[in-house]
Amino acid sequence: MYIVQIAPECAPVAKVGGLGDVVFGLSRELEIRGNEVHIILPKYDCMRYDQIWGLQVSMRDLWVPWYNGAVHCTVWFGFVHGRKCFFIEPHSQDNFFNRAHYYGFPDDVSRFAFFSKAALEFLLKDNRRPDIIHCHDWQTGLVPVLLYEQYAQAGMHWQRVCYTIHNFKHQGLTGEYVLWAVGLTNIGNYFNFDRLRDNFNPTAVNLMKGGIVYANFTTTVSPTHADEARFTDQGYGLNHALDVHKGKFGGVLNGIDYDVWNPEVDPHIPSRYGLDSLDQKYANKEALRDRLLLRKEFKPIIAYVGRLDSQKGVHLIHHAIFYALRNNAQFVLLGSSPESHTNQHFWNLKRHLNDNPDCHLELAFDEDLSHLIYAGADMIIMPSLFEPCGLTQMIALKYGAVPIVRSIGGLKDTVFDKDYDGKPWEERNGFVFYNADHAGLESAMYRAINLWFAYPDDFRQLMVHGMKYDYSWCRPGQDYMNIYEHIRCK
Ligand code: ADP
Repeated sequence: MYIVQIAPECAPVAKVGGLGDVVFGLSRELEIRGNEVHIILPKYDCMRYDQIWGLQVSMRDLWVPWYNGAVHCTVWFGFVHGRKCFFIEPHSQDNFFNRAHYYGFPDDVSRFAFFSKAALEFLLKDNRRPDIIHCHDWQTGLVPVLLYEQYAQAGMHWQRVCYTIHNFKHQGLTGEYVLWAVGLTNIGNYFNFDRLRDNFNPTAVNLMKGGIVYANFTTTVSPTHADEARFTDQGYGLNHALDVHKGKFGGVLNGIDYDVWNPEVDPHIPSRYGLDSLDQKYANKEALRDRLLLRKEFKPIIAYVGRLDSQKGVHLIHHAIFYALRNNAQFVLLGSSPESHTNQHFWNLKRHLNDNPDCHLELAFDEDLSHLIYAGADMIIMPSLFEPCGLTQMIALKYGAVPIVRSIGGLKDTVFDKDYDGKPWEERNGFVFYNADHAGLESAMYRAINLWFAYPDDFRQLMVHGMKYDYSWCRPGQDYMNIYEHIRCK
């Protein structure tokens, strides 16, 4: 099959969170299975150009219709660790992708509506006719809409779209102007409740809703979250649309790329280890302490790696730091936040804890350090308020860092409580709590810290159980192949 992924991120070249990892990891798995896979991305100025090989112009003059005129673009091609990527560079005064950041601008909707249109225009003009177009999140919600309403008539009649939603919270709510911009000028046809009109903001166009309505199949990133999105407030108002289109909606658990996330071969860590050489993990714990100037004492290290977004339960992360310190554990945090008040809060906390030899807060995005943290930490904490899938806990399991998580979304599908899960002991791999409050968090942290000190053999066994889990792309890769087969034109 010929599969084209249209996405706003792809690790490691343009990564903000898990979406980037998914686009990279799934593409690789699909290639291993014999498919031809291309990825289309915006050409951001802030990408990691050191991760692109052989960057060259692929199409010098691509004219993309936009409002009443057209925008001149250049399309580049390069390899990102073997993945074949096209990068779209518009030359216009809007300066869509030269902003030093990926997201967070008032015209984000215009930027990615343009990108969606440009990606399809490129496929059309370059005579590329994929069997499947796989697009991701609100940024590309317009892709199936434009394909069906415009490009099908222009020669792309056989293309089918799989649309994956990684985060329902951000839906691309905007005004009617965006329909004008991309040429859907028969506004009444699209701006109604059966199509792109938002159910709760009747004056707004909802790009994600458009994606759900028009895609041939919509997925979200874990089976539990698929139910949460349909039946609870975690659908953020899209419950009705999901219910109407339930026959083409499902959850596929993300995988992780074990070529990147594997302590046996990880070039970012000083001491490699696996199930047969677990003792080597502790050299990484020492290296982590050296790097972050933590004192060397007989204590577990509990870590948090991730965005500092309200979705991640920042108030509980804050509480976890102090609970860990009070209970004889060390705490390491690696995270950053686009929200200035959250950033400020953690900077204050960092200053407050600066002289504490048991704690380090690194308020940055640092991929290299994240590898060392997974390898050096004894436990990873994820007290998320909602978590569509979560890659952090799957990475932690592979590195023998026992996850302490809230039972929600993908966390529920991947972490099984040591004491209370119905699974056999060999399949239990972490600590789970339910209520998003201090008591809930403390109940799980207490059990984890206590096991580490009082029953080290059991704790080690729990690490081994986690390391044995296979959360690679193998199974989700097959699930996506089944979906593609189901929707493709035969
Ligand atoms: P989300 O997609 O909601 O951000 P996930 O758990 O699905 O959360 O994926 C997070 C990914 O991003 C993981 O690979 C994690 O290691 C990485 N990550 C998040 N924040 C940072 C950071 N500050 N530095 C390095 N890596 C980070």
